[in-house]
Amino acid sequence: MKSVVDFEALGRFVAVPEAARRLLSKPEKEIHFALSLKTSDYELLEGNCYVVYHCTARGPAKGGLRMSADATLDETRRLAELMSLKTALAGIPFGGAKSCLSIDPSGLNRFEKTAVIKEYVHVLRLELEHGNYVPAPDMGTGPTDMAVIFGETHIAESVTGKPPGVGGLPGRLEATGRSVSKSALLALDRLLRKPSRGATAAVQGYGNVGSHAAVFLSEAGVKVVAACDIAGGVYNPDGLDTQALKDHVAKEGRAEGFPEGDQITNAELLALDVDVLLPCAREDVVTAANAGAVRAALIVEGANGPTTPDAEAILSEKGVVVVPDILANAGGVIASYVEWRKAKSGALTTKEETFELIDDRIGKAFDDMMRISEDKGCSPRMASFVIAVEELVQALRDRAWI
Ligand code: NAD
Repeated sequence: MKSVVDFEALGRFVAVPEAARRLLSKPEKEIHFALSLKTSDYELLEGNCYVVYHCTARGPAKGGLRMSADATLDETRRLAELMSLKTALAGIPFGGAKSCLSIDPSGLNRFEKTAVIKEYVHVLRLELEHGNYVPAPDMGTGPTDMAVIFGETHIAESVTGKPPGVGGLPGRLEATGRSVSKSALLALDRLLRKPSRGATAAVQGYGNVGSHAAVFLSEAGVKVVAACDIAGGVYNPDGLDTQALKDHVAKEGRAEGFPEGDQITNAELLALDVDVLLPCAREDVVTAANAGAVRAALIVEGANGPTTPDAEAILSEKGVVVVPDILANAGGVIASYVEWRKAKSGALTTKEETFELIDDRIGKAFDDMMRISEDKGCSPRMASFVIAVEELVQALRDRAWI
């Protein structure tokens, strides 16, 4: 499998020792197992679980638990590598990991899902209890699933993204959306030189990341004119009431049918003439096939890996700037670090403190990214890779791994 970082291209901007390139080009550890569960006299639920640690030189393996029917090992490897880069760029002392379970969570009731999560803990118990791997929510999992993991290990720092009343962190739920909106506001100001008030945005994916990012952007005066989920979405040129749309999605399970807007498809949303496009759904949605249709000046990646490399080349030709996932969606892991630290120390942290820390870390990473991008004349993504890989190389040296 090709690594996320193209070391040949990176080599034009920073020298990476050959030993580091070899270590960072492949995962450090992988665990695969078949997860099966008898759900009735007649039914057997089956799936594959992939757990990948990409690099733990900078700290314990950290990365979300994804549940989706089509999850693969390659996807898990790619997401684990992104976590190593993300934690390094944000200066958070965690390594990069991920786990993916190829079971469709929408087909499970709460009891079945809890049983699946308990089975996952059963197999990974030593990794979790020793603090080697610290999961968090990702697509298809949420705070209650993390509370189930905690209920099995009885160790608060063994998992993050728990509900605030069960050792979780106020603001963790909104954290990724917070960093996506902060990155979009910084990019509007520093890259487009445009005030946030009156700027326009479209959001693809109205789950945890997309809905919170949309609400924070609205609060900052940005007009969110369109939002969609897997089933389609809504468009209102005067701006959507993002909180009301969030409530509608919580009630109806989909954005479609929201009364204050016209229906819009995913393809139409990606081609809207807005200042900022925020793909917050899943990977590989902006591709070579649709990048030519993008009219936004900026893409801020809320999802992991939403823009393919081919698409990015086309966007760059058109002058569309992409703020990369490893910067824009780092709020989740920044808040996870605070939750982990809180679990170890017993400190109490407010939602405002969580948001302040995210804004601060994202602000610093954005400054560093801009400086490297300007100094070396490279894209924001390449500049972010330069910073993250330099951090990782230093850690490999410090641990005498190279
Ligand atoms: P989620 O399950 O809460 O929401 C996903 C949303 O995307 C839903 O609205 C869904 O309908 C929509 N969607 C799915 N497939 C789609 C498609 N093909 N086209 C359009 N919409 C589609 O998931 P989430 O937690 O918000 O995660 C979204 C992305 O953000 C993922 O790439 C995830 O890895 C990344 N991410 C999440 C976090 C976090 O803290 N939750 C942190 C960092 C990165």
